[in-house]
Amino acid sequence: MSDNQLRLVWIYPDLLSTYGDQGNALVVERRARQRGLDVARLDVRSDQPIPTSGDIYLIGGGEDRPQRLAAERLRRDAHLYQAVNNGAIVFAVCAGYQILGHEFVNDLGQREPGLGLLDVTTTRGEGERCVGDVLGDIDPRLGLPPLTGFENHQGITHLGPTARPLARVTLGKGNGTGDGTEGAYNDTVFGTYMHGPVLARNPLIADLLLKLALDVNALPPIDDRWYEALRNERIAAAQQPA
Ligand code: GLN
Repeated sequence: MSDNQLRLVWIYPDLLSTYGDQGNALVVERRARQRGLDVARLDVRSDQPIPTSGDIYLIGGGEDRPQRLAAERLRRDAHLYQAVNNGAIVFAVCAGYQILGHEFVNDLGQREPGLGLLDVTTTRGEGERCVGDVLGDIDPRLGLPPLTGFENHQGITHLGPTARPLARVTLGKGNGTGDGTEGAYNDTVFGTYMHGPVLARNPLIADLLLKLALDVNALPPIDDRWYEALRNERIAAAQQPA
């Protein structure tokens, strides 16, 4: 971060923004402003270059065809690699998560290269789509309360040795591999299957991204009553018997 300004980049809202994923950008922006930070938010459409000077990059989910188009454009653009090399933080949801990996299966049934920023590979599940509420325990190293979200995906994501599972599900499918893992991360790159939007349901993940961007261990507390009410409501609803 420079000039005390946080640069937040929302990648390809025209292709990747299902289930209110744009809310993730709103939540990070608001929580940064509540801490007195000056925030420059840049929404980058798929016909525009990705800036390399961002501090936090957010990517949403999407249908299979827009996902392929987004992957093609991000590979061609290549600026996201540069940003990550410069230490930027990336947080991606569902289709965005799959794109960060080595490859996924596209809408034409072909193996499509991803960006290789996360050590994960996504295949196409042969069974029913993974759809529904998810609850999970986030990797204890991250010191965060339980994960809540909503998933809807056909892809099954396999983690390689340099990716850590973001969470272990207690309800739902997550990565869909049957091992209970959900999402993946390395130092500064995070992927999850959680919609919701996930950062509204789990605002302390937004704070984690801010702490990484600011290189601080703690942030001034803010009033989280509304977030708590939303979390409690969604967790209670998810725990209802079907
Ligand atoms: N198209 C991908 C899949 O079905 C991602 C879906 C999504 O982003 N919701 O696996």
